[in-house]
Amino acid sequence: MNHIVIIGNGIAGVTAARHIRKKSTDKITLISAETKHFFSRTALMYVYMGHMKFEHLRPYEDWFWKKNDIQLLQAYVTSVDTGNKKVLLKNSKSLDYDKLIIATGSKSNKFGWPGQDLDGVQGLYSKQDLELLEINAPNKEVCKRAVIVGGGLIGIELAEMFQSRGIPTTMLVREESYWNNVLPSGESQMINEHIREHHIELKLDTNLREILADENGRARAVTTDKGETIACTLVALAPGVSPNIEFLRDSGIDLGKGVLVNRFLETNIPDIYAIGDCAEQREAIDNRKTVEAVWYTGRIMGETIAQTLTGNRMPYNPGHWFNSAKFLDIEYQTYGWVFPEMDKMENEAHFHWRHPEEKLCLTMAYHLENKRLLGINTFGIRLRHEILDRWLTEKRTIHYAIEYLKDANFDPEFYKNYEFEIAAKFNSEFGTNIEPRKKSWKRILGRV
Ligand SMILES: Cc1cc2nc3c(=O)[nH]c(=O)nc-3n(C[C@H](O)[C@H](O)[C@H](O)COP(=O)(O)OP(=O)(O)OC[C@H]3O[C@@H](n4cnc5c(N)ncnc54)[C@H](O)[C@@H]3O)c2cc1C
Repeated sequence: MNHIVIIGNGIAGVTAARHIRKKSTDKITLISAETKHFFSRTALMYVYMGHMKFEHLRPYEDWFWKKNDIQLLQAYVTSVDTGNKKVLLKNSKSLDYDKLIIATGSKSNKFGWPGQDLDGVQGLYSKQDLELLEINAPNKEVCKRAVIVGGGLIGIELAEMFQSRGIPTTMLVREESYWNNVLPSGESQMINEHIREHHIELKLDTNLREILADENGRARAVTTDKGETIACTLVALAPGVSPNIEFLRDSGIDLGKGVLVNRFLETNIPDIYAIGDCAEQREAIDNRKTVEAVWYTGRIMGETIAQTLTGNRMPYNPGHWFNSAKFLDIEYQTYGWVFPEMDKMENEAHFHWRHPEEKLCLTMAYHLENKRLLGINTFGIRLRHEILDRWLTEKRTIHYAIEYLKDANFDPEFYKNYEFEIAAKFNSEFGTNIEPRKKSWKRILGRV
């Protein structure tokens, strides 16, 4: 019987453990320093906002692990001795492994700002960060103002969290428009407006210079590259994440930004694999980044490595790119590739529709010559994942997507739909005469 040791009990490590157990009786040990039990990191914000208790983030009951014979160990791994196949723990103990899966996720970035380690300066990644936030920002009396540094998805979550407790908030965003290194400009502009309408002070094109301390060594203000000093009691650092791999520096495992792996998620050392946020593909898979810090790719990697370790060696195949997030109360979905202006692919063109009053919009990216649909972004409109996946696989054109958009709509029944308005704008721009077809369940279920 092999001993499979997994470092990291996030979505990647836990999925690997569960799927290995489905097909094998090997001994499995799941190690994590953060918590004994797996929890849903993406829902941390809802605990702070009072929508859920932390216990509600645990999808598996405590008995699940014993029943499935998965050993849980709460410990910090300080290094890996690849020659002797051991992981070394902070308490000076060690653990032998036959196969090792590294699934250690990400850590919040810090860029060496003066004052970044003061009290009252923190990120949001772990359960411990959430607990610290309860100390630093329990309410608006203790936290007079929060400054968020960084305009990505965690930055906007933090803004929504502080808003839920009435804490005045300033966001410092390096880009000229919110997340415009990812979103096309129409969408990015809409989110700028939305943030400001929620009375969050959004300072674009602004970099943090320094965090100033009070006489007790706590953050009291930040200064920016625009010469401003902003008084605050909390500085929330959200300038992105990077793979959590420092403890592997002297292990002999090849590292780049993350743990370098091939398409089979194998490292340069036999019997050692890496999955989830900490893994870096040696070669990018089509247009994807080599490190992908998103939930569902961690899950797919976990499922894939479980196949390999139970006798069915399988390459990682993430399928079409997909992601979703929320900008305050606006839901965002993206399928396929819709690049911002600065990164557009050759021959990538966009069709953009925005509702005249509400914060709803859609961008379709298509190939300028053959009109093939390359991707869709929606804000405030929910789409059906299987349909978008199918259209991308079948290489449908943007004309087809406009015509059959009702099949893709996944908004609740009583929501207003905008397929006619979208088609009207498309027709006027492209000189076409497309009429959206009625939704067909036969088509949706692939029975025609
Ligand atoms: C606030 C927040 C919101 C997010 N929202 C979304 C979202 O809406 N959609 C989305 O797709 N993604 C989202 N993400 C990203 C998503 O949560 C991650 O991609 C995902 O959790 C990564 O899973 P993982 O299993 O690779 O690693 P992790 O979940 O990071 O788990 C790794 C675990 O390993 C532990 N560990 C690390 N090093 C060691 C060591 N040396 N010894 C022992 N244990 C160790 C860590 O403490 C951690 O518990 C969000 C992330 C955050 C922080």
